Amino acid sequence: MADAVTNEATDVAVPVTNWAGNVTFAARHIHRPTSVDELRRIVGAATRIRALGTGHSFNRLADTDAELVSLAGLPTEVVVDPVASTVTAGGGIRYGELAEHLHTRGYALHNLASLPHISVAGACATATHGSGQGNGNLATAVRGIELVTAAGDLVALDRSDPDFAGVVVGLGGLGVVTSVTLAIEPTFEIAQYVYQGLSRDALADNWARIAASGYSVSLFTDWTSPDIDQVWVKRRIDRDHPPVDADGWGLTAADGPRHPVPGMPVENCTSQLGVAGPWHTRLPHFRLDFTPSSGAELQSEYLVPVADAVAALDAVATIRDRIAPVLQVCEIRTVAADELWLSMNHRRDGVAIHFTWTADTAAVAPVIAAVEQALAPFAPRPHWGKLFGIGPDELAGRYERWNDFAQLLARHDPTGVFRNDFLDRYFPR
Ligand SMILES: Cc1cc2nc3c(=O)[nH]c(=O)nc-3n(C[C@H](O)[C@H](O)[C@H](O)COP(=O)(O)OP(=O)(O)OC[C@H]3O[C@@H](n4cnc5c(N)ncnc54)[C@H](O)[C@@H]3O)c2cc1C
Repeated sequence: MADAVTNEATDVAVPVTNWAGNVTFAARHIHRPTSVDELRRIVGAATRIRALGTGHSFNRLADTDAELVSLAGLPTEVVVDPVASTVTAGGGIRYGELAEHLHTRGYALHNLASLPHISVAGACATATHGSGQGNGNLATAVRGIELVTAAGDLVALDRSDPDFAGVVVGLGGLGVVTSVTLAIEPTFEIAQYVYQGLSRDALADNWARIAASGYSVSLFTDWTSPDIDQVWVKRRIDRDHPPVDADGWGLTAADGPRHPVPGMPVENCTSQLGVAGPWHTRLPHFRLDFTPSSGAELQSEYLVPVADAVAALDAVATIRDRIAPVLQVCEIRTVAADELWLSMNHRRDGVAIHFTWTADTAAVAPVIAAVEQALAPFAPRPHWGKLFGIGPDELAGRYERWNDFAQLLARHDPTGVFRNDFLDRYFPR
């Protein structure tokens, strides 16, 4: 995990590396405006500029060799509309802070990622997700967006706009999102249970029932064997989820709190052992005031059709002797299909196969290539914010609205103000 350091060009404290420290941003200036008007002036005057969220992505998606702008200095107002069941907040707000506001007022979001440390605009821009077969990714909650365009104008978009489903997962290429309106619901409580010891065969025989046994279910393995080490089941106490058949599936209830990454402190994790608590203190695995995950790591993740879950995991298992030496943990989750053009779940209920690697880029890169080869028959869609090698030609065929998104980029940003090497590679002009 990288520390924030001072950027001499602007005398503003911002991270000049990403959170993981594997990307050093090439930007010459890093702006931290304190008002939307100042932001508009900065963007309007820029030849090339990218928005930076909390820097939790692992690739060069946020990077640029020109200017970066962080919204961390903008005032954060949180406005709940109880009639529309929405909340509107600044794009730079972190989910953990927004969740506190909402819970205090009796509301909840439908889901959260494994960590609450990430910004709302940055997470939605990459289709960040949690788990739960009925739960769309976090961007599916977006009902409205305000963004600063390449010309420095402030533009508001909502679901009545035909381009809206393209703009929401925008990869930072359509403007700087200053405000996001999200769907909310009455607050709810979750009880989180951890089980251990799910054999590969029990998983194969019971996959659908296991995935349905909670509001959000995560499986963890280090691939030193074909079996699953931990099953995390988050059950809403206001819903009747199908039961966890621990005996039938050969599971043992954990006798104390667990961390998904072997050897990491359990204090960093949200409360387990079936003790019910507010949604935002159970849906993420990691607590806001502690280091999420392991802190020294790289990540990759691939979404494949949920119907292929067992076959895809078996394919990964065929190369587990290559994976295990550079892996900290692998997490398996489900995500519901949606209509967002660049969502990894576009029109496809998905199973997400995630890898928390060691922080050794040279050792990990060939294993990422091997995973992509093993998963190729399942047309994997890689997480936009994590490490992957699949090229634009292959990826374009996996998204029905790929060309529409390329045209959207050209229309919203004709002079390429928000372009960088990543967008030029995947969506060439
Ligand atoms: C420990 C850890 C755990 C993680 N767990 C999960 C998980 O459970 N599920 C999951 O799906 N992902 C997970 N991720 C990945 C993470 O959620 C994504 O990479 C997410 O995009 C990070 O958000 P951010 O605010 O840090 O965005 P950044 O990494 O800063 O930026 C990501 C993209 O968003 C754009 N962007 C940022 N702010 C704005 C803005 N205001 N306007 C326009 N564009 C903007 C950037 O230009 C860039 O293109 C995890 C990452 C880490 C480090």
